[in-house]
Amino acid sequence: MGKTDTDRGQSKEKAWLFFYKMEVDFVKKIAILGSTGSIGTQTLEIVRDNPDLQVVGLAAGSNIDLFEKQVREFKPRLVSLKSEAACKELRTRLADMTVEIVPGMDGLIQIAEMEESQVLVTAIVGMIGIRPTIAAINKHKDIALANKETLVTAGHIIMPLAASMGVSILPVDSEHSAIFQSMQGENKDRISKLLITASGGPFRGRTREELEKVQLEDALKHPNWSMGHKITIDSATLVNKGLEVMEAKWLFQVDLDRIQVVVHPQSIIHSMVEYADGGIMAQLGMPDMKLPIQYALFYPDRRPMAGKRVDFYELGSITFEKPDMETFIGLKLAMKAAAGGGSMPTVFNAANEKAVSLFLNRKISFLQIPEIIEMCMEAHQKIANPDVDAILAVEQETYERINMKF
Ligand code: NDP
Ligand code: MG
Repeated sequence: MGKTDTDRGQSKEKAWLFFYKMEVDFVKKIAILGSTGSIGTQTLEIVRDNPDLQVVGLAAGSNIDLFEKQVREFKPRLVSLKSEAACKELRTRLADMTVEIVPGMDGLIQIAEMEESQVLVTAIVGMIGIRPTIAAINKHKDIALANKETLVTAGHIIMPLAASMGVSILPVDSEHSAIFQSMQGENKDRISKLLITASGGPFRGRTREELEKVQLEDALKHPNWSMGHKITIDSATLVNKGLEVMEAKWLFQVDLDRIQVVVHPQSIIHSMVEYADGGIMAQLGMPDMKLPIQYALFYPDRRPMAGKRVDFYELGSITFEKPDMETFIGLKLAMKAAAGGGSMPTVFNAANEKAVSLFLNRKISFLQIPEIIEMCMEAHQKIANPDVDAILAVEQETYERINMKF
């Protein structure tokens, strides 16, 4: 019997419903902490390009104008800004919308725990990310982790917790994403070392005398990457590379003596893994954070992405150097903090966060950043296995030590 128009109409509707349901089932719901920052805004660009990503929660600090636009565009159910006052102002501005607004740490934690979200993108800067990251893991959310300070200070809590909850910690930091990509299909037990590449920052090749005179504007000019202010300064001091060594130690469970920093000024090789047979796997690409962010969101898929490609004819050559740890003592101190373990990385990180903020406010010179870190590390009595409360207490103690002097 032939099909009538009604039959055909019904089967069309059924097919549409089938695909609609598939789409609903395959939509990945994400929440972002730090949506107005460098990583946050690039994550939202990826959401724009991929209709099967949906934003259900957003949090930011104080950039209310941009945040309002983001909430209007992505229509999350729950949002947060740092202060009560900013949230009040946001509520007035968004009076025509249905959206829940919760300020401060309560907001960050509620967003981290949102029932409908599958992945939390931690694009917030600093140790403030610790509690929300733990909250999300406890609710079985996968973590797309940009917020390295959290892993540096609480890696000994976060990694075992994630393992016990069956949660994936997917690296967003470009070096760690490169290592993760270079480990696909390989036997982890055959890793002989991780090679973390570093651009060397804007002051590569300078002497200590030359560094005495550098200004904030010089330090903010990164040669290859466009990032938030804090990490840009961390790249100029090489502290960022030190934090990344600690981050790699936790993410990949590799001992410090098997992690090597290699200066590679062109930032085309994003990091490498050497295996037992001497073979080295590397991930290359243009310096663009959107690739590692997207890889973390769709892993193990590689979604198409527009943008400039590496042109080896144009590039000509790539070069490598040993890091100068006598001039950039921030990296040497990071290695010392990592080797010390316990609460030492927290002191290193908290002292750096405070010193960078003083430098950004023109209160101290560039070379005072590592000096302050060293002063705090020397004054600290190490705690062997700090819990979250102890980590946050050490952070406060370190801030207070610095506040007494500056
Ligand atoms: P930005 O400074 O650009 O952004 C930080 C974000 O955190 C902003 O949205 C800011 O909000 C928000 N924020 C700051 N304080 C608070 C707070 N108390 N409560 C809520 N939100 C807050 O940083 P980046 O994007 O550069 O870096 C984010 C993290 O990713 C860092 O840990 C960094 O080390 C890491 N990372 C960054 C890379 C990059 O390319 N940028 C590369 C690799 C890692 P607002 O601006 O509204 O105040
Ligand atoms: Mg990095």
